[in-house]
Amino acid sequence: MRPPECAICDTEFDPFEGGDTVYFRETESDKKQNQRMERQGLTGHPPNCDWFCNAHLKQAQDLQHLHLAEALVQMRR
Ligand SMILES: [Zn+2]
Repeated sequence: MRPPECAICDTEFDPFEGGDTVYFRETESDKKQNQRMERQGLTGHPPNCDWFCNAHLKQAQDLQHLHLAEALVQMRR
């Protein structure tokens, strides 16, 4: 896992005080990478997952049905 830093506003935050990771729909390449990491027992940062601060968490959770890249484009608008 990367340190907690919001994917939208780049704020570093303490996950104990709010903010969390959000998992989005996997693209084909995300799926392959996640399967590869699982097979090798690696615990890296999943490609379809990112951190969101308290201010952006709800918005991110509402877009979980999208791919991460699509959700970021929508949220940055
Ligand atoms: Zn944020």
